[in-house]
This record gives sequence, structure tokens and C-alpha cells, in this order.
Amino acid sequence: MMEILELDCPWCGEPNELPLEPQELGQQVLMDCRVCCRPIEIDLPDDADGRPVVRGEGQ
Ligand SMILES: [Zn+2]
Repeated sequence: MMEILELDCPWCGEPNELPLEPQELGQQVLMDCRVCCRPIEIDLPDDADGRPVVRGEGQ
């Protein structure tokens, strides 16, 4: 079952939604903010109940 991860862009603060694939748990993924198009690095939690760590470039 796919979950939607909601996170705030570290650059502009706007909310983004990331479809969370179960096999990606514990990995790092990169997405572009849908508002400002800057890259967002996301450390996914090890399980679906954890919280992701969001970073912008250089942070
Ligand atoms: Zn943004």
C-alpha cells in the first residue's frame, strides 16, 4: 500500500507530497519542489511511522 509523505520545502516552506514506496524506506531520495523547483533531499525513515529528514542543498 502506498503512502503519501507530506513535507515542507526547506527553501520556500511550501508543502509538497511525495508518494512513499515501501522499498524506499531507509533510503535517501531527491525531488524537486513543486513550487520553487529547487532540489529537496529527503532521508526517508526506516519504517512508515517514522519522520523523514528534509534537507536543502548545502545544509
Ligand atoms: Zn520550494
